[in-house]
Amino acid sequence: MHADMPKLGKLPTIRRLPAYLRLLHDLRDAGQESVSGTYFAEQLKLDPVQVRKDLTITGIVGKPRIGFSVCGLITAIEEYLGWNNSTEVFLVGVGHLGTALLGYSGFTRHGLNIIAAFDTNPVKIGQEVHGKTVFALEKLPNLAQRLKVHIAIVTVPAVAVQSLADLLIDAGITAIWNFTPAPLRVPAGIIVQNEDLSSGLAILCRRVRDANAPHPPTLSLAADLAGEAE
Ligand code: NAD
Repeated sequence: MHADMPKLGKLPTIRRLPAYLRLLHDLRDAGQESVSGTYFAEQLKLDPVQVRKDLTITGIVGKPRIGFSVCGLITAIEEYLGWNNSTEVFLVGVGHLGTALLGYSGFTRHGLNIIAAFDTNPVKIGQEVHGKTVFALEKLPNLAQRLKVHIAIVTVPAVAVQSLADLLIDAGITAIWNFTPAPLRVPAGIIVQNEDLSSGLAILCRRVRDANAPHPPTLSLAADLAGEAE
């Protein structure tokens, strides 16, 4: 784990916060002003004690019989996650996954604005993909400096990612959202968030196998999965 990672105990809570936020946005759109902790527990199938613990992290305290202010909680969660400020980021590697991420409008709702994309393929350079210009990778250091961009989403082939990461770090990028399955070696102070679909898939497949097995899952897997659900 990287030194800049939030304390491990907080990570499951941080992972759940977007789900609270989605429910809160729906409530706000429906004109509701307050919400109880029980509502979240029911909707998200969580223990009410867990919900209370999760929401404590935001600093917002519910009122007896009234619950939480919907707008207050939205603001508090967005502030906690830093989603209240728009963060401008680059995307590198405009292939299948990169193109899909460029077209995903949900990032802007979460304060993430992909302002430019980069690739090494001459056919792609100069094209517009979902309204974003694809620049030659060589342009990235200069643009990162001029536009003060410090975060990069990386969707290149795994073999290319380490040398790309070195280039990004030299260019002043301090946080890398790594969608490749390759682990990165980075200096202290650089934040790397790895997104690996295959690890989620591994858990899914194993759970399907266990659900279909004539015997219940082994104790250790059941315990591991319970830990994952926390
Ligand atoms: P792709 O081949 O369609 O796209 C890769 C793109 O990167 C191409 O446009 C290529 O020209 C470009 N590229 C190659 N080297 C580059 C470099 N050094 N700098 C800039 N651009 C470069 O691949 P894809 O299917 O989009 O997958 C991209 C990556 O994402 C792979 O590493 C893949 O394993 C990974 N992936 C991850 C997930 C996930 O869940 N995290 C899911 C699918 C794919």
